[in-house]
Amino acid sequence: MLKMYIGGRWVSAVSGRTRSITNPATGEQIDVAAEGGAEDARLAIAAARKAFDESDWPHTSARHRARLLFRLADLIERHAGEQARMETENNGKPLADAEDDVLTAANVFRYYAGLIGKPSGQVSDLPGSYVGRVVREPIGVCGLIVPWNFPLMMASWKLAPCLAAGNTCVFKPAELTPVTAVRLFELMEEAGFPPGVANLLLGEGRTAGAELAAHEQVDKIAFTGGTETGRGVMRAAAGNIKKLSLELGGKSANIVFADADLDIAADYAVSGIFLNAGQVCSAGSRLLVEESVYDRFVDMVVERARKIRVGNGLHPGVEMGPLISEAHMNKVLGYIKAGIEEGAVLLTGGKRITEGELARGFFVEPTVFGDVHSGMRIFREEIFGPVLSVTKFRDEEDAVRLANDSIYGLAGAVFTSDAGKAERVARRVRVGVFWINVYHPAMVEMPWGGYKQSGLGRELGTFGLDAFTEVKQIVHNLHPGPLGYYHWNRS
Ligand code: NAD
Repeated sequence: MLKMYIGGRWVSAVSGRTRSITNPATGEQIDVAAEGGAEDARLAIAAARKAFDESDWPHTSARHRARLLFRLADLIERHAGEQARMETENNGKPLADAEDDVLTAANVFRYYAGLIGKPSGQVSDLPGSYVGRVVREPIGVCGLIVPWNFPLMMASWKLAPCLAAGNTCVFKPAELTPVTAVRLFELMEEAGFPPGVANLLLGEGRTAGAELAAHEQVDKIAFTGGTETGRGVMRAAAGNIKKLSLELGGKSANIVFADADLDIAADYAVSGIFLNAGQVCSAGSRLLVEESVYDRFVDMVVERARKIRVGNGLHPGVEMGPLISEAHMNKVLGYIKAGIEEGAVLLTGGKRITEGELARGFFVEPTVFGDVHSGMRIFREEIFGPVLSVTKFRDEEDAVRLANDSIYGLAGAVFTSDAGKAERVARRVRVGVFWINVYHPAMVEMPWGGYKQSGLGRELGTFGLDAFTEVKQIVHNLHPGPLGYYHWNRS
């Protein structure tokens, strides 16, 4: 059974409740997990609070914390094959993608282990005899909440900077995908993180997660998930003015101009939406194509979408896996129905796959809609599945206008051979992540996060570490003398 890790001990839920964990490619149970609730959340928060307030963890040297993080990165790499397999069985993604995720996670721990020892802070020469220093300190107890689409990778994005900075935490994976999180915490125990510093809470968002978001003893919430959930977390966090980082939904535009290398652009357009079966926050779900090449380019994309090998991620050669659950699959199929009803042209896909062994899992065909207009729901709402909307544009101005016609602002891309146009468009599209002639690279060195309703703050890079620190000014009077303010010591 998959247990929680609280205060350095592996424990079941106080209620004794459990949850069946399934493989979305087969519908079969792969494990059983402890189903934590609000009471378990309070125990985990208390353990993290004690470790922050009473142990020397927040005051350990950066070098010491770095050593633990480097050790953890090595352990993740040593067990990479096993963790990748677990991730594929629990999440459904192709094994090669899961292997990438595991290596990325190790790299993220290494990056923050390196970064925490680098110079930081400022010194200011102030007027008179004052010297000012700015230092960074840990925030305290952090609640870290992640979704199911990149379970291990999202864990690393949050745990690495949080622990590097000297915080303690309660980490809650999505209730559907706890498997690699449990393995990660076993490796953290082996690496030597002290009890209570990092706690693993399993269970649902509306019980365990909501308690983390609201609890007065939690100082910060770093949340990745849907925008509606994020709004609720923000409200719950208002009680004690928690520090907040939110990585939320997206509806990213991928703009293809007629002067692009269309073969390359078509490959990226396809991986932009169908990677991880479209369950990617930065998915290029709105493809905007210049009208002079629209028909030709759409044909190229459709031809490629039809060739994608869909199947169980454990089978060699599979390029797209299932959706995470039956409920999510039904939501995606609902959007496909809405697209048809609203008059978009279904060019390929559109159905659940019900042939052979795939019938047992939650597979949806790679789906492409043409002639999509900006008023349609499939243009406006995040589907989080393998559904691409293609829209025609006239010129640069029109492309930028369409790209910005969204409540979201996470990512975007442009494909063109005109460097000036690429730069102009990159500066005008209102998103936190923008790619030119490429789609999807997410690198630890670069900040990740959204404009508008795609979030608050940034993860990764130096920004990701800043988000887990408080800034303190310390002013030192080098020559203390009479204050000279009150009548008794005015001369
Ligand atoms: P979700 O919002 O339903 O759940 C995300 C996490 O929040 C889960 O761990 C869940 O248990 C927890 N949760 C749910 N309700 C909660 C509550 N009331 N209080 C506290 N925690 C709660 O999202 P999902 O369906 O798991 O993931 C898909 C969403 O995540 C998509 O919208 C996607 O765009 C977004 N996402 C964003 C990024 C990014 O970097 N911006 C990355 C990955 C996914």
